[in-house]
Amino acid sequence: MEEIIVESFTMDHTKVSAPFVRKCGIITTPKGDIITKFDLRFTQPNVHIMPTGAVHALEHLLAGYIREELKDVIDISPMGCRTGFYLTLVGRITEKEVAGALINALEKVVEAEEVPAANPVQCGNYRDMSLFGAKEYAKEVLEKLKNR
Ligand SMILES: [Zn+2]
Repeated sequence: MEEIIVESFTMDHTKVSAPFVRKCGIITTPKGDIITKFDLRFTQPNVHIMPTGAVHALEHLLAGYIREELKDVIDISPMGCRTGFYLTLVGRITEKEVAGALINALEKVVEAEEVPAANPVQCGNYRDMSLFGAKEYAKEVLEKLKNR
């Protein structure tokens, strides 16, 4: 049986310095299209964990804002460990380009006045949402990412 390797399990989470943007996967479909995946790490693994309300609000906010910056986004989803997000998109793109897009998207989070789709029709847990928390993490990540 073929051994399954999960890329993120091969990264030593004790040897990274967050925040960072890391290309963590690339797939060529049978028709030749390229799909690229990125690790958008916001907080230091096993040291700073974002509360669910902040992560959830960031997920809703970034869903729109990252698509305003990058085309052909398939998905941006929170990591279960709550230290960052995975971004998947069609095409080849560099970490630097993604970092630039993330910075622009986070600038918009800082200015946001409400969390989109925070209601029982459009979300599965709309009460667990912190705009304040989302903004605080956005500010922190922005400051550090810009100085990289
Ligand atoms: Zn939701």
